[in-house]
Amino acid sequence: MLMLMTSPHILNDGNASPAVLTVIAGDGIGPEIMKPTLELMQAAGASLAIEYAEAGTASFEAGVTSGVPEETIESVARTGLVLKGPLMTPIGSGGKSANVTLRKLFETFANIRPVREMPGVPTPFAGRGIDLVIVRENVEDLYAGIEHMQTPDVAQCLKLISRLGSQRVVRTAFELARAEGRKDVAVATKANIMKMTEGMLQREFEAAAKDYPDINARHVLVDNCAHLLVRYPESFDVIVTSNMNGDILSDLTSGLVGGLGFAPSANLGNRVAIFEAVHGSAPDIAGRDIANPTALMMSAIMLLRHVGQFGSAETLEQALLCTLSDGVHTGDVPGESPVSTSAFAAAVGDRIGRRSAVASREHQPIVLPQISRPDARREPGSRVKKGVDVFVETTQEVDQLGAGLEQIATVTPYRLSMISNRGTVVWPNTGGMTECVDHFRCRFVIDDASTWTEESIYGLLKAIGAQHRWMHVEKLEEVDGVASYSRAQGER
Ligand code: ATP
Repeated sequence: MLMLMTSPHILNDGNASPAVLTVIAGDGIGPEIMKPTLELMQAAGASLAIEYAEAGTASFEAGVTSGVPEETIESVARTGLVLKGPLMTPIGSGGKSANVTLRKLFETFANIRPVREMPGVPTPFAGRGIDLVIVRENVEDLYAGIEHMQTPDVAQCLKLISRLGSQRVVRTAFELARAEGRKDVAVATKANIMKMTEGMLQREFEAAAKDYPDINARHVLVDNCAHLLVRYPESFDVIVTSNMNGDILSDLTSGLVGGLGFAPSANLGNRVAIFEAVHGSAPDIAGRDIANPTALMMSAIMLLRHVGQFGSAETLEQALLCTLSDGVHTGDVPGESPVSTSAFAAAVGDRIGRRSAVASREHQPIVLPQISRPDARREPGSRVKKGVDVFVETTQEVDQLGAGLEQIATVTPYRLSMISNRGTVVWPNTGGMTECVDHFRCRFVIDDASTWTEESIYGLLKAIGAQHRWMHVEKLEEVDGVASYSRAQGER
């Protein structure tokens, strides 16, 4: 049953004009952490007009295959602002994650995960002064979920990184640094290996950095970043990174400051911003009044800052910091005498108006980059045809495959230049010891670019297809003098 209220329910009519938001309580522990969070926002003086909407388990059970009903989509599109509890993903039924659906549907391209040492929360890193933000690209990369079984034994996942996606996320990181008075932004990539995809993120970061001379911009390889985050976490301020790297790094960093109970997040797009705790619905503890509501409360504080209600944000943050400093905590935090969710929330409520020894950061409104697709597109000056990669499934020995394909190529304008297996050249023989699987990239090059035509490619594919199963083709070009394809390991 949908609980959408079409007429907004005014929580508190403070000085600011009310921020109209959609509240999705969510599954599992969602409702029991959402209720006190909303009450505390009100107590802190936030001015909110709430539309309640549903998503997740109840919606899946009602037959909504995406887990996000039409009414909820309409509400989010209308308000552009969401405070969301965790939504469970159905296991085994093939149902998609409603969390991901919401993020993708509204193109929330940047995932912001602040990581700050909290007083009274014992961790091996306590006292180090960790205070950083991970900005994770949120809609592209391997998580676009474009996968194919290339052969029965070889799977492929496409890693798509766009110039638009890269520009938006790196500029969001710089703008966030400015809004929070931070001075250092690091881009974490694996550009040394993936020069085109991860390299694009690095190049767009370096280009954008020129517009932010007040901020120190640096590149760090993501594996080294993980290492440095464990050794010197206090040396980082803002880290911007691609979707998968960000997924891993941000879980690592939340572990540094006390775990899932203390990990808030925002998903920012140009039209919609969704605020939520990083943790899931925790069905194992749902309904027992023992969940830690801190991460959702911190997400609510981020939401208040996002809509410019800085006073109530700081009031709630200070009350939360006082509560934790006083040693009040739920059972997920190591220490004596844990309290229930409701007792923790009551303790925060009692401290509204008090100031903790830990200061809140000064915040300015964040200015999100408004970059549209045509802005990001670069029309190349030249494209020179170089050939075609044809991916072939075979269990033939590579010498036999090479000889056969060379023969096939003689009736086309193409010449077989190399064959690689999982990225390593195996023909012509290099003396390597590659154990070939049944998936070969066969590179055909052309000496006279004018003979590279759609028809000549079809002819080549037809001739190959008569002898082998091919499943994937890539055109090879030089764009503005730079090869738009990678060389294989060992390719000359
Ligand atoms: P989902 O399927 O929705 O992702 P999950 O249980 O697989 O749920 P999480 O909810 O992220 O994944 O929880 C992982 C573990 O952390 C669980 O054992 C849960 O009890 C604990 N946990 C998560 N969030 C909290 C919280 N806010 N307070 C206390 N414990 C939590």
